[in-house]
Amino acid sequence: MNTSEPGSQRLRETSPPIHAIFETTPCPMCGAEAGTPLVRTGDLLFPGDAEFQLVSCSHCGHIYQNPRPTPAAIGSFYPEAYHPFLSAIEDEASPLRRLDRAFGLRMRCQAVHRAADRRPGRLLDVGCATGVFLDGMRRLGWAVQGVEPSAYAAGYARRRFGLEVFEGLLEEARLPEATFDAITMWDVLEHVHEPRPVLAELARLLRPGGLLVLSLPNPDSLEARLLGEHWLGWDLPRHLNLFRPTQLRVHLARYGMPVERIRSFTAGHAVMVMSLARKLSAAGYGPAIPRLLSSPPVRLLSRLYYSGPADWYNLSSIMVVFARRGSAPHASQELLRDVAPLALNQG
Ligand SMILES: [Zn+2]
Repeated sequence: MNTSEPGSQRLRETSPPIHAIFETTPCPMCGAEAGTPLVRTGDLLFPGDAEFQLVSCSHCGHIYQNPRPTPAAIGSFYPEAYHPFLSAIEDEASPLRRLDRAFGLRMRCQAVHRAADRRPGRLLDVGCATGVFLDGMRRLGWAVQGVEPSAYAAGYARRRFGLEVFEGLLEEARLPEATFDAITMWDVLEHVHEPRPVLAELARLLRPGGLLVLSLPNPDSLEARLLGEHWLGWDLPRHLNLFRPTQLRVHLARYGMPVERIRSFTAGHAVMVMSLARKLSAAGYGPAIPRLLSSPPVRLLSRLYYSGPADWYNLSSIMVVFARRGSAPHASQELLRDVAPLALNQG
């Protein structure tokens, strides 16, 4: 990761005045104006002077960034080094890294394939990056296509894998209604300014009975609670909306896509180690422990935990939500009644 060119530095050099960069917003999920500050930090990946904050909606409890970078300015907060655009696994030089990535990809593909009762159909991956996942699903018999806003990543997916990828946002793709048997969205929804139109579009594109798989940071996770403000899942200022599992159940049910299961098997180790490194560094410790934890053998061993208990009991930083398009939207406001407010460990 290139930390010599922080995002805020780039922003100061190249962008319009501060009032054009940030906007205040009502709660993106319910429209209420009042929110209580929950987390206030600098850029979690690229240190600079600017501070950002997440608030918890006083009405529905949704966690969102406010004020937040405008849609026009948000790109300035994604330095080149941020994008985890992965090449084809076969092109990785290190055998350990190939093994590690192949294992992760296989888990991801098999999880979706099994949730679809091993019956391949049409699959859309929203934010498909370089197409590695789509290529994996195609090998399982799926007819695949992707949507990806990055010209570089979309181009790579077309060239390297010969995939059908629309370059742009989901809403711009104007795909036909009830087309897909499965839609996946890995680590995307938390980056979206207005999630509601996106959820509506996903519901429109899925055929009745179709599968929706979303992965996103879980602010209720054990790791978020233990690591407090240092937890990388907040990823300010790039994460604009964070969903607690109970809230996500309510929102998806409202759009006619009730949640069947929430698991946790992607990228937990990397997020944990980077968050812990921040916490230890803030407490004055050196990098020895994080370095040991991120060595390839330890990382491979950690799979035992992350693909075992962490997955079964949804303990790690990233949750994977499996929902299914029903025939009619469900009213489930009552599910929110018993949710305790999120208490954050500020240690
Ligand atoms: Zn709200």
